[in-house]
Amino acid sequence: MTGQCCAWPGCKVTAKRGQLMCPRDWYRVPKRLRDAIWLHYVPGQTAVTCSPEYRDALHEVLVYARRVNTEAAEAAGRETDVYCEPCGVWHKPPACNAGLR
Ligand SMILES: [Zn+2]
Ligand SMILES: [Zn+2]
Repeated sequence: MTGQCCAWPGCKVTAKRGQLMCPRDWYRVPKRLRDAIWLHYVPGQTAVTCSPEYRDALHEVLVYARRVNTEAAEAAGRETDVYCEPCGVWHKPPACNAGLR
């Protein structure tokens, strides 16, 4: 076994053997959550053999990661949205030109 995919949602990097995530993503996770993972991590464990405590810790990490991803996507969206007068809302460009006919 050479390693597994990084557990960060959407990350395609292969994590080192025995590591949950690639280093870049791992250090984005708050230390409190990382500590919980190590506390319950047992070398050689699998998704089937890991303890419920580990699963909970992993769940928290993934919830955190998804929130970071969502916030990043929203921040990116806010930067690129335009105020569309025909729609009366902010949305992705191009603005609709209904009403300019
Ligand atoms: Zn990663
Ligand atoms: Zn529009």
